[in-house]
Amino acid sequence: DRANIGVVGLAVMGSNLARNLASREGNTVAVYNRTYARTEELVTEHPEAGFIASETIDDFVATLATPRTAIIMVQAGKGTDAVIEQLAERFEPGDIIVDGGNANFNDTIRRERELRERGLNFVGTGISGGEEGALNGPSIMPGGSPEAWTTLGPILKSIAAVAEGEPCVTHVGTDGAGHFVKMVHNGIEYADMQLIAEAYDLLRRVGGLSVEQLVDVFKDWNTGDLESYLIEISAEVLAQKDAETGQPLVDVILDEAGSKGTGVWTVQNALGLGIPVSGIGEAVFARAVSSKTAQRAAMRASVQGSTRAHPATPQVPDTFVDDVRAALYASKVVAYAQGFDLIVAGAKEYGWDIDLGALAKIWRAGCIIRARFLNRIVDAYAAEPDLETLLVDPYFADAVASGEETWRRVVGIAAAAGVPAPGFSSALSYFDSLAADRLPAALIQGQRDFFGAHTYKRVDKDGAFHTLWSGDRSEISTTPSTH
Ligand code: NDP
Repeated sequence: DRANIGVVGLAVMGSNLARNLASREGNTVAVYNRTYARTEELVTEHPEAGFIASETIDDFVATLATPRTAIIMVQAGKGTDAVIEQLAERFEPGDIIVDGGNANFNDTIRRERELRERGLNFVGTGISGGEEGALNGPSIMPGGSPEAWTTLGPILKSIAAVAEGEPCVTHVGTDGAGHFVKMVHNGIEYADMQLIAEAYDLLRRVGGLSVEQLVDVFKDWNTGDLESYLIEISAEVLAQKDAETGQPLVDVILDEAGSKGTGVWTVQNALGLGIPVSGIGEAVFARAVSSKTAQRAAMRASVQGSTRAHPATPQVPDTFVDDVRAALYASKVVAYAQGFDLIVAGAKEYGWDIDLGALAKIWRAGCIIRARFLNRIVDAYAAEPDLETLLVDPYFADAVASGEETWRRVVGIAAAAGVPAPGFSSALSYFDSLAADRLPAALIQGQRDFFGAHTYKRVDKDGAFHTLWSGDRSEISTTPSTH
């Protein structure tokens, strides 16, 4: 008997995905790992899976029914390239190589092109949900050719998470589209986590709530519009007591946030595409600031030794908990709106036909940003596929407008109290920028024209203009500048 699907790379993600595949009707799963001990361990621990195990890559390939399909779950980068090459040397035209690791989408575009030239199908796919998702149902974001999707689709649908009866997988677009949207998913995840952390900080340090009270607040929020995996696990983390000291665990965890780099990729690509993902950017920077141990220590010593007027605790309204909830919701809408803007720009740049509503659907379960909120995004794109920004969808426009006054109040209180809220405040600034009749960009254009003759456009006439700043300061009409 041969296997209809194989998995290469049996660390935590690969073994869980292999077990998930094996648990579905009709699948026979071949498994291979560079270090055979790992394969043996998996097969011994899970006889129920009926794995076909191979010690060598040659044997592994021989156990696969044609057209062969293998999912790679190894370390992103060089490890993935090495495994792709091993498979590609042994696979035949029409076979499918799937990379389920956290690849950079640029690598995926390159690999797809190279393998296509060799007659092979290559599908880079984002897989979100961590180890638990891999085992019980992740959100899956495949790219690659429509032909490969025809074969692969049913298999991926069988193992994906299910939201409202629909499997959380869709063919996102060709070549690197899947890994691109997975990257943006992770960026949005950074923003969402930062906003929740700011809400926690404000309620604790300004609102005076105890950690125990905050657990209840988050649990309560999780029954409303903010219902999401990240709010749910925030309550869990806050409820955890440190066994050693008896204190809330959050108080003994070092406050320096790590990252694996997908948030940075998101912001780098957004900068290149000119998309203001300020919510994601602030979240990435906030983690960076948190880990600047020496600067933080120097600054703390400096402000404590100074005679500056320390921020006073501002008057906190009785409604503060609900105010913060409204500010969090509005800021979250902004972060998602920006993330979706980046996907639209990426699709345009790289030639992908991405259905934003279908994408919001597959993020409703299995992945880290799963949330009730995503149903609203699904509805928004169903009503208007070419929405200019999520912020003008009637539901979101109304949701933000109804919380706008409290959002401003919360940002003001944070500033007055000296509690950093970069996510909340940059989201509000973004909202105000888009909503403004006039922006001070006019002055910036004037400055650019002054020092660099970069020219400017006028509100009342077509064409490009330049003022003779170092001459008689009269205005001349010019051909459009390329700067
Ligand atoms: P790791 O990223 O820790 O990678 C370990 C696996 O890669 C092992 O099977 C290892 O084999 C194999 N490997 C590394 N280099 C090579 C090589 N040169 N040749 C052959 N095999 C190699 O495993 P994870 O399970 O944590 O993650 C797998 C992939 O899934 C990664 O790309 C990761 O980014 C991605 N991912 C992880 C998530 C998570 O929550 N952990 C979530 C979503 C995606 P060996 O046993 O021989 O060392």
